[in-house]
Amino acid sequence: MDNFLPIAYFKNQFIPFEQANLSIATHALHYGTGAFGGLRGIPDPANPNQVLLFRLDLHAKRLSNSAKLLNFDLPADKIQAVITDFVKQNKPKVSFYLRPFVYTSGLGIAPRLHKIEKDFFVYGIELGDYLSPEGVSCRISSWCRQEDRSLPLRGKISGAYITSSLAKTEAVESGFDEAILLNSSGKVSEASGMNVFIVRNGAIITPGFEQDILEGITRDSVLTIARDLGIPVVERPVDKSELFIADEVFLSGTAAKVTPVKQVETYHLPKERPITDALREKITAITENRDSKYQDWVFPIALD
Ligand code: PMP
Repeated sequence: MDNFLPIAYFKNQFIPFEQANLSIATHALHYGTGAFGGLRGIPDPANPNQVLLFRLDLHAKRLSNSAKLLNFDLPADKIQAVITDFVKQNKPKVSFYLRPFVYTSGLGIAPRLHKIEKDFFVYGIELGDYLSPEGVSCRISSWCRQEDRSLPLRGKISGAYITSSLAKTEAVESGFDEAILLNSSGKVSEASGMNVFIVRNGAIITPGFEQDILEGITRDSVLTIARDLGIPVVERPVDKSELFIADEVFLSGTAAKVTPVKQVETYHLPKERPITDALREKITAITENRDSKYQDWVFPIALD
């Protein structure tokens, strides 16, 4: 059983996680009409009475936008306040992942977003490495990333994760660790829950927002750090074949952090990954608040 944090925020109150349960008739369960966030926190290595959350402001804003796309007005500052209280209630002692969720909470049938009750809950789980930091093998999925004209890709809409689920299972059941999805134009889009980067001739290249990607917060962090380090950064369409001949390929995501890719389909990538290693190290230092330049990315929460 996963290690859930003991207290959940549910129906406007903090209650034991085990008691935060929903009816089988909950609208969002049937129609995928929810949206979630996902953010990481760690106990502050420099202060036992403090927890550090990474880029809480951007996560709250993205979830508020997701809620807007579901016809639900949930301001980012309300999300931020609830998450802060949630951490104070739970006082986590190990690294963790928070899952705030907005959804159509009313009971009943008929897919719609109007005239249906909405709600917001938060729970947490202890989380170490989600993917191996040593590197993962990726399959190019037979499933295609959705398009914004059929589903709002600027939100983390729960129903969209059927495609990620199909792609991940297809990859794992055929012997790979992770899936990379192409979009409907055949260009590289993203992995099942991470953005994709390649390194060629010393430059970092990643698909732009027009490639049907999620606006990843780790992606934004990686691009900013890379620019600050003087590494050239290009956002442009990426072809599948570039994944095979790149000097480095890596994935970015809140759960995955910066994860090196060691193999794509049958192509093995070089074992030396200087840029991936430098970015992973830097982002780890920033999340632990060891880098004063990026202090405003780290939200310290005092536990007493
Ligand atoms: N793409 C998808 C489909 C995701 O689920 C995630 C994880 N939230 C990402 C990309 C990476 O986003 P972030 O860095 O904000 O976690």
